[in-house]
Amino acid sequence: MPFLLGLSLQLANNVLLSADYRGLHIFAALNAASLIAAALGELKLPGVLGRLPRATRFAPPFVLLASAPAVFIQPSNLVRQQLSRVEGAVLVPPLARFGWGVSHGTAKVPPELQPWFENRDNLDPIAPSKPPVVSAKDLIVIMIGVDSMRADLFDKPANQKHMPRLFELRERSVDFALTRSPGARTITTWSAIFTGRYYSGLQWSGDGNHLSIKADKQLRFPALLGKAGVTMATFTAYGALDKKALAKDFNEGTKVPPRDGQQFGLSTEAMPMLIERLAKHDDGPLLLWTHLMDAHYPYDSVKTSGGVKERFMAEMGQVDAAIGALDDAIEANGLRDRTMVIVVADHGEGFGEHGTKYHTMNVYEELIRVPLFISGPGIKPRRVTEPTTLVDLGPTLLDLYGVPTPSRFLGQSLVPFLRGENPKLTRPIAAERQGTRSLVLGETKVIVDTARGREEIYDLAADPEEAVNLADSLGAEGQNLLALVELFFDTHQSPLYRPVP
Ligand SMILES: [Zn+2]
Repeated sequence: MPFLLGLSLQLANNVLLSADYRGLHIFAALNAASLIAAALGELKLPGVLGRLPRATRFAPPFVLLASAPAVFIQPSNLVRQQLSRVEGAVLVPPLARFGWGVSHGTAKVPPELQPWFENRDNLDPIAPSKPPVVSAKDLIVIMIGVDSMRADLFDKPANQKHMPRLFELRERSVDFALTRSPGARTITTWSAIFTGRYYSGLQWSGDGNHLSIKADKQLRFPALLGKAGVTMATFTAYGALDKKALAKDFNEGTKVPPRDGQQFGLSTEAMPMLIERLAKHDDGPLLLWTHLMDAHYPYDSVKTSGGVKERFMAEMGQVDAAIGALDDAIEANGLRDRTMVIVVADHGEGFGEHGTKYHTMNVYEELIRVPLFISGPGIKPRRVTEPTTLVDLGPTLLDLYGVPTPSRFLGQSLVPFLRGENPKLTRPIAAERQGTRSLVLGETKVIVDTARGREEIYDLAADPEEAVNLADSLGAEGQNLLALVELFFDTHQSPLYRPVP
């Protein structure tokens, strides 16, 4: 009986509580092991087995000792990858950290990437591009973040019925169709946009649930806009983004309170506030920013019945209506010829791809690929397929308002694309979460996951779903790609970066 109980507990440990509660998994595994061990200790072996000599009692410790080298012999990436996806495999993270050390030798950096693999602190700032798309003197930019809006929502024509206003707005925009987010979590993405630095380039405080760069002293792009006379107002439903934390350089910060039982304030509250603020604005440059949390799991802000995707799409519909109302207000207030609208998501959302639900857990394309489109005066609508990153947004906003970008920002301005040009941008497209670092180099995506002890290389052209890991088969070329990932993030790591408990 205890044996069966232990076995079922361990089975449940692998299946339930997916993607969360690491401590609980360890607790459950220990209990399951104790129950099974106790049951085996009581076992009276039948027949000839019961009369085995005493020496055989030493067999279990002998087997354990004999299998110890497995800790030090590095299993293939394929094995590590499969192991690390099993929730109950509680020994994998410590083994990854202490047993399966990762070393890929010295990276050979391609010449065009070299400037981005060096410390950039003391280089000259990058001047605004010329000529301006529109006069910065009275420019209004409205930046709308939509939580969890996957890029491929716009690839499915059937979604147009849920998001008619967003589909239509995208038609009027420069659509940066191949945009990636610097991380898969709200606060890490916006922090990277504000500072131009990736996750380990920042100083974090708080814990796993309440992460913030409150303590980080590095320059954020709004500080430069403020100096240039741009008025900035934010409407936020998520504490770590508000004026007390990330948006400290904004002039105005309005909290969007949650209503009846919701975890976050929604677009139905945030957008009317933003529209009211827009209507009040007179002359002079203005930046308005909001991040709409409607579609953040558990997908219950519009519908509480129906399947996960159905409820998610209903929330997208609610966001769509709010953005439609904003577009109408720009028209009604006669602000069309001085107002740009940037629509962007902070990350995608997993619906079972790579065994992932929700977001934050990894850096695969379903979490990293995001929509980005920019509309407004002087902008000719088109689709840009040059790869871009949300880290480009800081330099883009600075450029739009005619302010130089500090050299240590790891993004590049997208304003030339708005003018109809096709520059070749050289900065790497990267993404990072605690312990997981990734670069996209051309069509190749490279992931080094030190937390879970695995390395992955995918050919995105042939394998867009990231299903065939080439890390074990690419030899020296693969080792160099992995070394490039390590070098890029090591070069730009903040001396004050500490992993968050
Ligand atoms: Zn988010």
